[in-house]
Amino acid sequence: MENFIVSARKYRPDTFQTVVAQASITNTLKNAIKSSQLAHAYLFCGPRGVGKTTCARIFAQTINCTNLSPEIEACNQCDSCKAFNTSRSFNIHELDAASNNSVDDIRNLTDQVRIPPQMGKYSVYIIDEVHAFISGFNAF
Ligand SMILES: [Zn+2]
Repeated sequence: MENFIVSARKYRPDTFQTVVAQASITNTLKNAIKSSQLAHAYLFCGPRGVGKTTCARIFAQTINCTNLSPEIEACNQCDSCKAFNTSRSFNIHELDAASNNSVDDIRNLTDQVRIPPQMGKYSVYIIDEVHAFISGFNAF
């Protein structure tokens, strides 16, 4: 049972290369990393199942990787990648806006944002299901 991983995690692509049929998006993200021209926020839009959260996770891991491959892929070997892969990264925060959408949740988020990244270069907040941000939207 210890080695059990749910299929949604087991089969989620973990490199830009393994994301299927979204080359325009993955190339755009890779070029942004290659040219060091990162925006302070990215909005991934589209119907369910096209890879919005997957691309956001890969992007977050890749920009914090200290040992990028020439193909602009995360190494999965460095401390930042290992921390990300075991869901214990202090830099990459995933927040489900469907269940954390109160004004108090946004206050907690703005308090967290003040803390600089502990390792790696960027502190990344992935806010999933952001359309569900109704009551906390103005605070956000
Ligand atoms: Zn790495």
